[in-house]
Amino acid sequence: MSSRTREYKAWEREKKLIPVMIRKYCRARHGTKEGLCEECAALQGYALFRLEKCPFKRDKKFCSFCGIHCYKPEMRAKIKEVMRVAGPRMLFSHPFFAMSHAAAMIRHKRQARKEGKERESSDREAKDV
Ligand SMILES: [Zn+2]
Repeated sequence: MSSRTREYKAWEREKKLIPVMIRKYCRARHGTKEGLCEECAALQGYALFRLEKCPFKRDKKFCSFCGIHCYKPEMRAKIKEVMRVAGPRMLFSHPFFAMSHAAAMIRHKRQARKEGKERESSDREAKDV
């Protein structure tokens, strides 16, 4: 089938993974035994809402959380923290995802290097504002 179908799957996978990651984070950081605390529930709602609105959802090449760039600053800070805490844990529970994520990162970096380091870093600065 077309690559579009495959890429769309990346978006769907992300939609499934957000709750998994937030759940791990909430348990690790907030000691929530089941479900999510109020704060994390709000973050999850927001993340899924952004993902639903993502203009790139059909051709997401790269994983995850490109949505970060359209997050509100406070939500962006939270989701980054979630990834930092839950990311390494994904290796154990979702090794395939973690591997393909790492592979995508490498491809992305290689691509970026081809396009020029300067532009990459300035792009990043700009988006981070
Ligand atoms: Zn929580």
